[in-house]
Amino acid sequence: MSKYQSVNPYTNEVFATYENATADQISDSINLAHALYKKWRHEEPSVRARQLAKIADLLGEKKAEMAKLMTLEMGKKISESEEEVDICIGILNYYADKGPDLLKPEEYLNPFGRAYCLKQATGVIVACEPWNFPLYQVIRVFAPNYLVGNPIILKHAHNVPSSANLIAKLVKRSGAPEGCLLNLFLSYEQLDQIIADPRIAGVALTGSERGGISVAENAGKHLKKSTMELGGNDAFIVLDDADPAVLKKALSDARTYNNGQVCTSSKRMIVVESRYQEVLDDMKEIYEGLKWGDPLDRTTTLPPLNSEGTKQKLSKAVRDAVAGGAKVYYQYPEIDSQGAFFSPVILTDIAKDNPIFDQELFGPVCEVFKVKDEDEAVALANDSSYGLGSSVISSDVAHAEAVAARIETGMTVINGRWITDAALPFGGVKKSGYGRELSPLGLYAFVNEHLVVDFSQQNQQ
Ligand code: NAP
Repeated sequence: MSKYQSVNPYTNEVFATYENATADQISDSINLAHALYKKWRHEEPSVRARQLAKIADLLGEKKAEMAKLMTLEMGKKISESEEEVDICIGILNYYADKGPDLLKPEEYLNPFGRAYCLKQATGVIVACEPWNFPLYQVIRVFAPNYLVGNPIILKHAHNVPSSANLIAKLVKRSGAPEGCLLNLFLSYEQLDQIIADPRIAGVALTGSERGGISVAENAGKHLKKSTMELGGNDAFIVLDDADPAVLKKALSDARTYNNGQVCTSSKRMIVVESRYQEVLDDMKEIYEGLKWGDPLDRTTTLPPLNSEGTKQKLSKAVRDAVAGGAKVYYQYPEIDSQGAFFSPVILTDIAKDNPIFDQELFGPVCEVFKVKDEDEAVALANDSSYGLGSSVISSDVAHAEAVAARIETGMTVINGRWITDAALPFGGVKKSGYGRELSPLGLYAFVNEHLVVDFSQQNQQ
């Protein structure tokens, strides 16, 4: 049986199944994408920019269809699915507007003569993406690479195949050339074979450490450039002078958005003694106030997790944490449903030898740590294999900026939860991966900085 299935996590019913790609489909896709790369090398980025804007327009027209499908497939609240579509329209328009200028050659002062770097396409890129933002994860890689002239072969997560199909269909329907985004349902072995093909120039993966290690190893074996956007165990540092209203709002967004299934959603609340009880009280009130139900119902604030498998995995992690000495401060009442619902939980007293101390828990589990001061907070934040995002909550912004600079991480938000925007680089350090998506940095991820130097004047001397 194919593992590419659409299962509604609210009912646990299968509503679509897809077969893996055949060898011929894979071969045809690589041929098509490579031929487009060669064709695109003779075309100005401004032509592709106009097409990106058309894709953004079509996505706007199809917002309701796209959003509903994402909610049906992975259970996020319909309002969050709609917001995801809007963010993607923003990314497409950002690269459509800014991309051509960002790809202009860059001049370098040097002793020989005029020198500049052309910013050129490198070839077909494989995008291996996770389910938690079915559209956004794809657009983050597709939009900048489309502008550059790198076609994409997409291997999406096994549990969002219908979203993957719809994304590819919409891109095609917008009038974009055949081969610019090819969705294939692939086994891991098939993916490895594609990466090994000489016409593949690079691999962008967003996902877990497990998936990242495997795909990066294969890319490395074939000397293919890769970017890895992996998991996080983000610290949310609460300082003495945190504004209570700002704190509560950030806490709520941090732990409930996408039901906690966000790579950068704060997973470890690190709180100075004076504010510890307040954070526990706030979090309890936030979790208690949630209303579970159908994610298509706009009054629902606690949707199911993305799958039964995730529910089982998260439940086991919480059991292991408690067996390892953690205390349950609060847990939402048991939910009587056939769906993949998980009752949000607040854990305290997580010591360094606890099995979850250095683990990413992907769902509504709030880990709260008490520290005596800011130095201890920073030390605990940095005592992690991960370094993706983080937050610092303090009324003194200059001071919060100084604390932010001490955290070993890719991103820090002051007085807020995680954020994303087309204009801002996204990515991490340590086991959270390498490379950046979005912003100009994301545009240059798979660009050939081709140096051209005019040596003529030197010859005349
Ligand atoms: P995952 O299991 O690693 O899957 C991500 C993608 O990699 C899927 O397409 C998956 O395919 C594929 N994959 C997994 N193992 C593979 C292997 N051994 N060989 C080839 N392909 C493999 O991650 P996930 O559970 O779907 O997503 C959640 C994780 O993503 C979390 O850790 C989260 O923090 C991270 N994430 C990071 C970012 C970021 O920007 N840093 C953003 C979002 C999510 P299958 O589905 O077929 O297994």
